[in-house]
Amino acid sequence: MDPVRTCALCRKKATRQQGMLRFVRAPDGEICLDLKASLPSRGAWLCANRTCIKEGLKRKVLFRKLPTIQVNEEAMIDAIANRVCEQLKSSLGLMRKMGDLVLGRDAAVGLAQSGEAAAVLLASDLSLRSQKDMREALASHAATIDSMFSMDDFGRSLGCKRTGVVALKKGRITQEILRLCDMVKNLSDGRGPTPASLVNKDLALSGLRG
Ligand SMILES: [Zn+2]
Repeated sequence: MDPVRTCALCRKKATRQQGMLRFVRAPDGEICLDLKASLPSRGAWLCANRTCIKEGLKRKVLFRKLPTIQVNEEAMIDAIANRVCEQLKSSLGLMRKMGDLVLGRDAAVGLAQSGEAAAVLLASDLSLRSQKDMREALASHAATIDSMFSMDDFGRSLGCKRTGVVALKKGRITQEILRLCDMVKNLSDGRGPTPASLVNKDLALSGLRG
């Protein structure tokens, strides 16, 4: 069971899986992200969105009774978004090694139609026409997710030639990948690359239950 956590700023309660980030305080007072929630030190939690992280750091709501080093909130949010992106790439690489991921339009549509795909990620630089075609072809079969990755990013992360379409089989790692995609969207303020956004999220979640 994933325990329920409370955001130190807004007091919202949610599990890590539902988008909570853990922070720890280093002995010198530095506040560090504990993305995997595995560091032994006592932790404090914030919602994985810009508002709670920014305001939470500004108002020093983490580790209130202990001295902490003031951080630059914007730089911290960017660093967290980068960490989440790196984690996302490494999870995709792992799925590729396990054979739980297929590349390219035709393979993705085939996997979706056989009922094995939980979600299909689209590259941010895939043409609008191709994106529309994919959405129509996948319609009721699998959720379509606009990823923040370009075709080159997919190629580099997966050790293959550039590709605009990546389909994920149902399973635990896919669930983690969708969680991270959602997190990147909430950490982004619209600058830089197209943020990941979960399109048809209910379908994505129902697909994961199968
Ligand atoms: Zn919050």
